Amino acid sequence: MNNSTILVTGGAGYIGSHTCIELLNANYTVLVIDNLDNSSEESLKRVEKITGKAVSFIKGDVRDKALMDRIFSENTIAATIHFAGLKAVGESCAMPLEYYDNNVNSTLVLCQAMEKANSKNLVFSSSATVYGDPEILPLTEDMPLSATNPYGRSKLIIEEMLRDLPESDKLKNSTNPWSVALLRYFNPVGAHESGTIGEDPSDIPNNLMPFITQTAVGRRKELSIFGSDYDTVDGTGVRDYIHVVDLARGHLKAVQKLLSKDSINGVQAYNLGTGNGISVLQMVKAFAEVNRVDVPYKLVDRRPGDVAACYADATRAKEELDWEAVMSLEDMVKDSWNWQSQNPEGY
Ligand code: NAD
Ligand code: UDP
Repeated sequence: MNNSTILVTGGAGYIGSHTCIELLNANYTVLVIDNLDNSSEESLKRVEKITGKAVSFIKGDVRDKALMDRIFSENTIAATIHFAGLKAVGESCAMPLEYYDNNVNSTLVLCQAMEKANSKNLVFSSSATVYGDPEILPLTEDMPLSATNPYGRSKLIIEEMLRDLPESDKLKNSTNPWSVALLRYFNPVGAHESGTIGEDPSDIPNNLMPFITQTAVGRRKELSIFGSDYDTVDGTGVRDYIHVVDLARGHLKAVQKLLSKDSINGVQAYNLGTGNGISVLQMVKAFAEVNRVDVPYKLVDRRPGDVAACYADATRAKEELDWEAVMSLEDMVKDSWNWQSQNPEGY
């Protein structure tokens, strides 16, 4: 029986709530801190219903130093998964300081509390956006990194900040060095098979899948497809969509790695993707066919800052974490619709 406690920041959000399920099913004790800025506590109630297990919840901000110190002094945290942050690219261009404060500063405060408590196992939510405009595909973890907007830059800064930590361990001859997994997600879609938890953007969706589901359910008139003249299979943008349950299982595998004898020595980055590139038109067609619903769309200009294509080589995650994506495109579109059609207005 495994009952180590895992601290999950941002655990009420989309990826966090799905990850809580995998952790609870693997018999970890789960402690969530979330300020509910982009989520609802209802997601955690549903996680408890799905798993039949309790989640401890603290409503609070990861940037609150006193609170983070208290959490680490009152609990023995075996590992922390840090999801909390802001994630909208367009918004990050309009309010970069909020993004650096929320994303970089939260990670700084979290790591200070972790170091103070000598609890130094961390899984960090990074993103494929750290590869910038990729020159070679599929992307492997050692390809050049760059940022094209403040959101991406915040992830890059955090990755670099975390890479400094093991260096400090060496200088201090630390007997309990940092072990950090940087998980670079490709494009998460889908929902838990129950259809009771899923992605629930508080504003007009920026991402493709919630825009498709909200159009199909009648909340939006039509989908705008950004760009039809890319050098891709049908001119529309190509991405590596990954089912959120596969992604959540990747976090469980990363935690298990950190807590194993064969832990990560320092910082290691892992791509979490399927390795398959899917175009926007292919996604819309699959969604409409599998779910037998209409998704009205129009072709419009490219969205500034978008790249033509982006997909992962996830070999390292397979070799070192024993993880690979197993869910199909059909699972992704079916489960996304199952969630949205059962919860037309979200939580
Ligand atoms: P989400 O918005 O659903 O979840 C983030 C959660 O963090 C929310 O519940 C929010 O209320 C909380 N939060 C934000 N700032 C906080 C703070 N300072 N203190 C406490 N709680 C705070 O987003 P998500 O899609 O689940 O993404 C989780 C992480 O994964 C984010 O760091 C995001 O940048 C990263 N990521 C997401 C995607 C994606 O497409 N969804 C892709 C790559 C990386
Ligand atoms: N996209 C689109 N219409 C939308 C939202 C997204 O055509 O309303 C396209 C976008 O141009 C990209 C793909 O869908 O080619 C995935 O975009 P998303 O914002 O979901 O993820 P990104 O890869 O940009 O992080």
